[in-house]
Amino acid sequence: MASGILIYAEVTKSGYVHPVFFTLAAKAQELSAKLGGAEVSALIITSCGKTELFKEGFEKCGFDKVYAIEGDEYQNYNTELYSNAAINVINEIQPEIFLIGATTQGRDLAPRISSSIHTGLTADCIELDINATNRLAATRPTFGGKLMATILCKNNPQMATVRPGVFKPLEQDVIKNTQIIYKNPEINITPKVELLEFIRGIEEEINDIDSAEIIVAGGKGMKNADGFKLLTDFAKTLGGVVGASRGAVEMGLADHNIQIGQTGKTVSPKLYIACGISGAIQHIVGMEASKRIIAINIDPQAPIFDVADIGYVGDAFEVIPEIIDKLSSK
Ligand SMILES: Cc1cc2nc3c(=O)[nH]c(=O)nc-3n(C[C@H](O)[C@H](O)[C@H](O)COP(=O)(O)OP(=O)(O)OC[C@H]3O[C@@H](n4cnc5c(N)ncnc54)[C@H](O)[C@@H]3O)c2cc1C
Repeated sequence: MASGILIYAEVTKSGYVHPVFFTLAAKAQELSAKLGGAEVSALIITSCGKTELFKEGFEKCGFDKVYAIEGDEYQNYNTELYSNAAINVINEIQPEIFLIGATTQGRDLAPRISSSIHTGLTADCIELDINATNRLAATRPTFGGKLMATILCKNNPQMATVRPGVFKPLEQDVIKNTQIIYKNPEINITPKVELLEFIRGIEEEINDIDSAEIIVAGGKGMKNADGFKLLTDFAKTLGGVVGASRGAVEMGLADHNIQIGQTGKTVSPKLYIACGISGAIQHIVGMEASKRIIAINIDPQAPIFDVADIGYVGDAFEVIPEIIDKLSSK
């Protein structure tokens, strides 16, 4: 018997459930209603005793069940161990839909699972819906963002990874008495990869952009490496992370993984500071859901000012050091 919608709850290296999970939980409630009240469950794979810590969160998100796989061997993410565990649960409960956040981990895990269980995966989606035949209609950009493709999957589970930040978490709790079901899948594989050491590096910064509360984003107007160094100092002063426009990425000033916009990430931080970014529509769609937007641009006609709550017309190379100085002297 197929059992509704299953969502992967990624536990991050810092020990919390990745924010994309809560946005998927909200979307799942919507999809469940369209499917006539399909069951919504979560899958969590983590170290011993962790699931119970997140129980309240699961209950507030309206989960009927949580399938928990715990063990010391799951303390650090491992593609083979995690996919083996997930496949075990999927084979047992046979969800109609299985959703995963398109985080670094999710992008690694999802294709491994879908190929093993011979089902389709629509990666990096920006919209999910249920069509007239009750199938998942998963939409993602294609041809470099020039077209949107809505993809249906013939088999179950219909799998999709979804970009962090494209859906909103629930505005009001949907309290359920969530049942936690512990599973202990057999491990008949010896992982080929062993984690020797975890070094905080650019990957972590890239992950952080999905959940960062403050993003300082730079565009072509930041001109060179020194401009981006200034942004890094600005972000550090504010306790935020650096993002970039495609213009800046194409100039080689920033990594594509921190590009924000139609062909990059979709973000919704509490504060987004756009520095030297003109505000092309392809950039705006990736950041307009931010709670507060501040724009610094030398051109008073720049379209970024149309979406900004606060605009500063001036040279970013002059104003940013001044702000850093003021904040640092406090
Ligand atoms: C299919 C497609 C997909 C795309 N996807 C994306 C995407 O995901 N993300 C994205 O960002 N773009 C995307 N683009 C590109 C987008 O159309 C713009 O070209 C891009 O966003 C421009 O980047 P920018 O604002 O950094 O550069 P520009 O448009 O060149 O703007 C630079 C700005 O800096 C200002 N400036 C210059 N000097 C200073 C200074 N000293 N101080 C302050 N301000 C200064 C200028 O006034 C100007 O407004 C896409 C385009 C296409 C066709």
